[in-house]
Amino acid sequence: MSSILRIALQKSGRLSEDSYQLFKECGIRFDYGTGKLKSVSSNFPAEFLFLRDDDIPGYVEDGVADLGIVGENVAVESTHQVETVHRLGFSKCRLSLAIPRATDWNGIHDLAGKSIATSYPRILGNYLQEKQISAEIHEISGSVEIAPGIGLAEAICDIVSSGSTLLSNGLKEVEVIFRSEAILIARPTLEAEKQTLLEKLLFRIKAVQAAKNNKYIVLNAPNSALEQITSLLPGMKSPTVTPLATEGWSSVHSVITENDFWENIEAIRSAGAQGILVIPIEKMIY
Ligand code: ATP
Ligand code: MG
Repeated sequence: MSSILRIALQKSGRLSEDSYQLFKECGIRFDYGTGKLKSVSSNFPAEFLFLRDDDIPGYVEDGVADLGIVGENVAVESTHQVETVHRLGFSKCRLSLAIPRATDWNGIHDLAGKSIATSYPRILGNYLQEKQISAEIHEISGSVEIAPGIGLAEAICDIVSSGSTLLSNGLKEVEVIFRSEAILIARPTLEAEKQTLLEKLLFRIKAVQAAKNNKYIVLNAPNSALEQITSLLPGMKSPTVTPLATEGWSSVHSVITENDFWENIEAIRSAGAQGILVIPIEKMIY
């Protein structure tokens, strides 16, 4: 029997859209939405399962799914044995400690002997242990931010992205304890055929990610400035230089990381480059 990868994705939430988009960009088509529980890809040996994110590590460990996409916070908090295969760079957030705005803060030792409400008792517990602070952890599963207001805890530890939820509950963020992004997880013991499919998938994911971090740049340069300009454009091997119809000018094509682009663009321009175009790349294979 030929293998098929079973991939668990969050049904609907902060991971879903970017997860679906990632597979789309990898050229892997499947239907989702309208209460579907699963869907088989029409052009890659994969079946997608749509689940609550918290259930994904367990399903991956049990072998119901081979792979899954979850927030690193969920994977680290869970007791299930799964392997982190790749970092995906979306759904970024942080897990932070917060206290009532009016309370003074002199550092993490202020929490000694206090009670902290959280949905992340393991991550918080490890953090406190590392800092050698003994505090009481109150595990609650949702609406952690209301705990201080109702007298349940003196501090909270919760996911923050903009901080507006904290603000509207009269809290202030005082310490970041963990930074998270979406990750691809796998069952540690994949069969050989599934491992091969996983490698195919990873090849595509890396090509998509590399393309996102790089731009294709095209510009016109006077021949006298070519040496200086090409030294500012490292390229995959070296830039392509072709003569323009106008005597003494060339067209230069290269690939540049987004960071290098912003770092070097002023120098490139003052060296004499004109008509600079920056074009997105769809896939990039090293
Ligand atoms: P589900 O119904 O699937 O259990 P959920 O409510 O537990 O969903 P979401 O709020 O959709 O989960 O968040 C999923 C993941 O997205 C989080 O575990 C976290 O890794 C990440 N994330 C990014 N930004 C935020 C944010 N502002 N608040 C919460 N999670 C965020
Ligand atoms: Mg959840």
